[in-house]
Order: sequence, then structure tokens, then C-alpha cells
Amino acid sequence: MNTDSFESTAFVFAPPPVVTLPVAGSDQRFAVRRIYCVGRNYADHIREMGGDEREPPFFFQKPTDAIVPSGAAVAYPSCTNDFHHEVELVLAIGREGRDIARAGASQHVYAVGVGIDLTRRDVQVAARKLGRPWEIGKSFDHSAPCSELRRLVDGLPNKGRVELEVNGELKQSGDIAQMIWSCPEIVSQLSSQYRLMPGDLIYTGTPAGIGPLQPGDYVVARIEDIGVVDVHIVSAG
Ligand code: MN
Repeated sequence: MNTDSFESTAFVFAPPPVVTLPVAGSDQRFAVRRIYCVGRNYADHIREMGGDEREPPFFFQKPTDAIVPSGAAVAYPSCTNDFHHEVELVLAIGREGRDIARAGASQHVYAVGVGIDLTRRDVQVAARKLGRPWEIGKSFDHSAPCSELRRLVDGLPNKGRVELEVNGELKQSGDIAQMIWSCPEIVSQLSSQYRLMPGDLIYTGTPAGIGPLQPGDYVVARIEDIGVVDVHIVSAG
């Protein structure tokens, strides 16, 4: 099979559209390849989940087409009665790398953004208790809202308020400075497990204050000096 000749290839089904995010101040868009997420990265959130903050964080993935642009509606998902928000700093990889040293991590990050790791909390916790994978709790359709991306200029962020409001009420409030594993450490660790490629996103974990969402809720998440993402939760279609 010649993969260079797609233009003349007849597909059984139309290929899926490329998933992209806008880049602030640019007409060019960022094509998303993979979405990695850090499982636990703020001590106060680990405590509220009943975990042990001395354990190293771990990674899971969401499907690429789970991306939801800012301003969009998200239908309340199936299979849950406890649908939660988690505001997270997002790193957007712009340069390939494997076994990246912490000192060189910023050179692999093209931009940063604000994401929401939407979670079916009840089924996540049930899967965890049974020793099953987290997919059903984390990796469902429309589970990854993300803001436009802001190009990195002054190195990786190491501080900045992280907040999420539901219907104008502050629910999550933390600071990037509270991350257990810093941005360079996350890039370095993840790149020991996977070859990072341009287009990869990394959701870096959430501070305390996670909680449930209902149809009709309006969610705004922001990170100081980085950006804002907002979504409307609507009834299941
Ligand atoms: Mn998360």
C-alpha cells in the first residue's frame, strides 16, 4: 500500500476529519494527534479522592475526537449519574522527542491551553475498585474541552491561578505552583513511555474542588495568563 497517494485512493468510508484547535493570534490551526492526561498531580485533589500523594502520577489517554472547542455544548453523557469537571493546564507538543530531559522539555512544547477533563466519576471509581481500566470513566465522546492555544514564549509555566466556575460560582481554585510533578517532569516522564509527536496534548491534572455537572450548567475554566474555555452542558440528545 502506498500511503503517499491518498489523493488517488478510494476509501471505503470518508476518512475522519482532522481534529484541530485554534492558535491565539494566528490563522494557523494545531492538528491534534493524541491526548494524554496525568491521573493525579495536585496533592489536595489526591486527598479529596482518598489517595496517597506519595505515589507517582500516571498517564491515561482520551480519544482525539473527544476535543470540544470553547463555546460549544456538551451533551450530558450516557452511563453516569455523577458527571464531573476537572480544570487542567494543557501542554501542546510541537517537536518530536523520546526520553526528553527535564532541562530540554520546554523546547518540545509549542503552546499551552486550558482544558477540562470531563469524567464519569461514578463509573471511574467503580472501575478502579474492580481493577479495571479507566476508559469508561475518562475516555468518552466530548470528554476533552480545550481553549485556543497560546504559544509558549517565556518557558513552561510554573505558577498561575487555575479556576473553574459553574453558573458563576467558583468551584475549583488552585495554582500551577501546587503541581506535584512540574511541566518539565511530566514531559520527561511521558516521553519515557511514548515517543511524543507534534500534535500531542498533555492534560496535566486538576486541583481540588471537582464536582458534579447537570444539564443547563454553564462552565467557565481559566488559567492566569494562559486562557479561558467555556462549555454549556445540555440534556442528552
Ligand atoms: Mn484529570
